[in-house]
Amino acid sequence: MCGIFGMFGNKDAAKMTYLGLYALQHRGEESAGIAVTNTKKIKSSKAMGLACDIFDEESIKSLKGEIAVGHIRYSTTGSSNPKNVQPFVVHHSQGDIAIAHNGNLTNTYALRKHLEGNGSIFQTTMDSEIIAHLITCSKARDHRAKTLDALLQLEGAYSLVLLVDGLMVGARDPHGFRPLCLGKLDNSYVFASETCALDLVQAKYVRDVEPGEVIFISKGKFESVKPFAPAKKSMCIFELIYFSRPDSNIFGTNVYETRKRLGINMAKECKIKCDLVMPVPDSGMYAAIGFAQESNTPFEMGLIRNHYVGRTFIQPTQTSRDFRVRVKLNPIRDMLKGKKVMIIEDSIVRGTTSKARVKTLREAGAKEVHMCVSCPPIISPCFYGIDFPTKKELIANGKSMEWIRNYIGLDSLHYLSLDGMLDAMNLPKEDFCAACFTGCYPTQIPAKISKCMLE
Ligand code: SF4
Repeated sequence: MCGIFGMFGNKDAAKMTYLGLYALQHRGEESAGIAVTNTKKIKSSKAMGLACDIFDEESIKSLKGEIAVGHIRYSTTGSSNPKNVQPFVVHHSQGDIAIAHNGNLTNTYALRKHLEGNGSIFQTTMDSEIIAHLITCSKARDHRAKTLDALLQLEGAYSLVLLVDGLMVGARDPHGFRPLCLGKLDNSYVFASETCALDLVQAKYVRDVEPGEVIFISKGKFESVKPFAPAKKSMCIFELIYFSRPDSNIFGTNVYETRKRLGINMAKECKIKCDLVMPVPDSGMYAAIGFAQESNTPFEMGLIRNHYVGRTFIQPTQTSRDFRVRVKLNPIRDMLKGKKVMIIEDSIVRGTTSKARVKTLREAGAKEVHMCVSCPPIISPCFYGIDFPTKKELIANGKSMEWIRNYIGLDSLHYLSLDGMLDAMNLPKEDFCAACFTGCYPTQIPAKISKCMLE
């Protein structure tokens, strides 16, 4: 998971990109960066941490130029360290290149071995760096052709915004795993992972970059090409269930409305009557609204989130999952006491956090705790840019429903069916990747693939 943003032809390109990253912060909290150019030379500023902590007025002012790309990182190939912060920038005799990448390449190992065999020296352990090497090694005649030559060698998931010697490139892999949209602000072009970033810079949404589309923008010229062989659309369904912001439209559909429909479908499948339905804030919120409306059950906020607790504080310093849950979510005891409660989760990955939440509700006096999950059991890892744990660590892998219910400490547990989830999408179901729920991957997955395979 990462967030990418690009702006072409705006005197405040760096400032706008900063705002874009600010809107996309939920897509990764490990690091952020901006690369900017006016002509051929690229200047960049990047660091570990949140965009708002890395940049200030002075640092943004120093990034002069009308063309900028930005990146927010949550690592999926290559560990979280300063060398792996994006945009990845190279200064080369053929021109400077900056890369902002969301997704995970699946032929990383083979490509890197090949490039190293031909003398390439890598600076990072990210799959994204390979793209720069493929562009500079290409024998094609110009930057446009070299970029296409590089993209044609990639397999797996990528939404990209690139700067190649003053040329801006926006691209989405032929399957369209990750989102990328195109906007306009007066005469400037904007690329963003989600439309919430366009909203913040007051750019108008034009359209999604299509799966397999590559857009080249240079002074006075906009060109769209589709250089790839036809491939099956495989948009990541998990973006709509969990990752993207509810105020965004991605894949041409609204995230909030989709999550509400997931809740409606859950209520149609689960007939248990409770005194109240409550979300796990914030991500379970919208499915819980749909569930409450469809089941005619009172919607309540039984857990209140402390919005001042950042993950950066909690994760390194605390080992107890219970403590982390208590710091983040506090129950309303007077409301929960003696009640039969339906709690709505967006998903269950390891199950440890859900277990701690249920314990909190029981300690607060809930008489019965039932749970609905707004997607099917996650049984397989993701190789396309979502950092799920290994198959062994996924609670639903190889465990019965009864075992999971008992482990989490619930009176009943209900997962939304695969059909119920796909039906909520309001788009053709065959256009989605749902491999983490089915184990059926839309592309070949090589034997050697893991987050730290290049380290
Ligand atoms: S495997 Fe799951 S998380 Fe990964 S792209 Fe497919 S649907 Fe998304």
